[in-house]
Amino acid sequence: MFLKKIYVNGFKSFAEKTEIVIEKGITAIVGPNGSGKSNISDAIKWVLGEQSAKSLRGGKMDDIIFAGTEKRMPLGYAEVNLVFDNQTGIIPIEYNEVSIKRKLYKTGESEYYINKQQCRLKDIKELFMDTGIGRDGYSFIGQGRVEDILSPNSETRREVFEEAAGIVKYKTRKEEAIRK
Ligand code: ATP
Ligand code: MG
Repeated sequence: MFLKKIYVNGFKSFAEKTEIVIEKGITAIVGPNGSGKSNISDAIKWVLGEQSAKSLRGGKMDDIIFAGTEKRMPLGYAEVNLVFDNQTGIIPIEYNEVSIKRKLYKTGESEYYINKQQCRLKDIKELFMDTGIGRDGYSFIGQGRVEDILSPNSETRREVFEEAAGIVKYKTRKEEAIRK
C-alpha cells in the first residue's frame, strides 16, 4: 500500500488543480522557501482529518482556502484528494485503489468522500485506523512526533506501538461503547 497521487485544488498556495504523482519508493520534495512544500504535507494531514487549524499552520480552518494574490481572485473552496494503491489490501476495503477526499467551502460546510461516495470524517478515520496512515499514524512523522517515539512517558510511547500493532480500532470502539 502506498500513496500514489495527491490532487490539490484551492488548498493554500495551490490556486489551480494540481496533480502530484508519487512513485513507489522514496520521494523528496524540493523547492525554494515559500514555494509550497510544507503545504503539501499540510494537505495530506488535512484530508486525513486534521481539525486543528494551528497544526496546519493557520489561525482558523478557512485559512487553508486559497486567499488570492495581487493577480488572482480568492477561491470559494479547497479540496484535496489522496489516492492510495491498495493492492496489498492493507486498507480494509475491497478496492485496489482507495481515494479519499475532503472539501471545505468558505461558508464553513465540509464534505468527505471515500471512493467518490460521500461519507463522514469518522468513516475515513476508521478506514485508516491501524494502517499507520492517519493524522496520528506513525507514517506521518512531523516535528514533535519524533519526541513521542522517544518520550520518557510510557503512555505516549505505547500509543505509537498500539497503532503499529493494529489494536487502535478495538480500543476506540471499546471506549465508544463505554461512553454510550
Ligand atoms: P520553506 O522552505 O520555507 O519551509 P515551503 O516550501 O515549505 O517553504 P510553504 O510553507 O509550504 O513553503 O508555503 C508557504 C506559502 O504558501 C506562502 O507563500 C504563503 O503565502 C502561501 N499560502 C499559505 N496559505 C495560503 C492561502 N490560504 N492562500 C494563498 N497562499 C497561501
Ligand atoms: Mg516548509
